[in-house]
Amino acid sequence: MKKNDYILAAFIFLFAGLLSAIIFVSGNERGNFVTVTVDKKVYGTYSLSENQDIEIDTEFGHNVLHIENGSVSMTEADCPDGYCKRQGEISTEKEAIVCLPHKLIVEIESADEQNEEDYDFLVR
Ligand SMILES: [Zn+2]
Repeated sequence: MKKNDYILAAFIFLFAGLLSAIIFVSGNERGNFVTVTVDKKVYGTYSLSENQDIEIDTEFGHNVLHIENGSVSMTEADCPDGYCKRQGEISTEKEAIVCLPHKLIVEIESADEQNEEDYDFLVR
């Protein structure tokens, strides 16, 4: 192997290790915050460790999200189908409640802001 090959191999090993570290960190099943997206734009992110009711008022309608003991549910919605209210509670990563008439997606995620900053730094 030439010198450049060693450098390349070292880089690949480093990158693979980094990637598995990221996967390991983000592979955590328990979500710790919820992201609310309206019409493909982030409306807000909220911690699951805090019991709270989140009122979401947009041009599309009114929803109330309820967070209790790490579970999220849609308790109020003025959409015509009311389907989001019947989706029940979600609590694990990548689970979501969708309100189609209001273009609203509530998704649970587990990476915290600190991790995202680290990730950005490493990618740059
Ligand atoms: Zn709905």
